[in-house]
Amino acid sequence: MGEAKRRQRRLERMQREQPWCIYCGGTAVGTSVDHMPPITVCDLRQRPPGLEFLACKECHEGTRKVDQIAGVMCRAFPNPTTEKARQEVRALMNGLANNQLDILKEWWPDEQQRRFAYNAPGAFKRSGVLNVGDMTHAAMLKFGARAAAALHFEATKQIVPSRGGIWATWHTNERIIRGDFPSDFADMLPPHTTLGAGKKNTLDGQFDYSSRVTDDGLMSAHMMTFRLSFAVQAAVATDISNFREVESHKPHLIFRPGFLKRSA
Ligand SMILES: [Zn+2]
Repeated sequence: MGEAKRRQRRLERMQREQPWCIYCGGTAVGTSVDHMPPITVCDLRQRPPGLEFLACKECHEGTRKVDQIAGVMCRAFPNPTTEKARQEVRALMNGLANNQLDILKEWWPDEQQRRFAYNAPGAFKRSGVLNVGDMTHAAMLKFGARAAAALHFEATKQIVPSRGGIWATWHTNERIIRGDFPSDFADMLPPHTTLGAGKKNTLDGQFDYSSRVTDDGLMSAHMMTFRLSFAVQAAVATDISNFREVESHKPHLIFRPGFLKRSA
């Protein structure tokens, strides 16, 4: 069977199980297969099967920019060690320079940040740090919300409904190196796993995640780590009023279903 045909069959199989896009509240038919984590974060595009979801055209297009940003960021830290991987990261960087140059400019670290990263201990040593500006921050929050919507579906087989909401935050390696990383969130989650755990084709060391759903199934919490680059913490509520407290303080951290669409 050809690749195109195989993909079409997979799409049809998924549509038979559950036909809706998981990102816009169950209001649009899912017409393509979405990968979370995206293929772009995987070394040499080697991605194990699993964590595949349905997305409508508009939402799928909405993932492109944020996936590109998260993908380059993830791949660049730590520095790739093989020539093949270096070439791949260079190509990803070029792609970002072509499509979203403003983001790349935002990343350039200042002298003090460069020195700090160079002298960092352990695995982080000479890894470099990210200089994160407002545009990157906004894109990464969106990426975090997208990832949480996917993991919520994975854990509950339910789409975040229109009345629901997603709270997301993320942390760069600089905060992780400094130990300035909230552990209380991680502590309430089960041990993390990876895609293709224990198999030959695995994302071990590239991506890991952990999810927990409340007993009533109305809320879920998720944490994901992307190499030594960044971590995402997120929570999903099937009724946004559960976020009343958070929302009143930081409304920009709450995403409503449909947030990936251009108009959102
Ligand atoms: Zn959609």
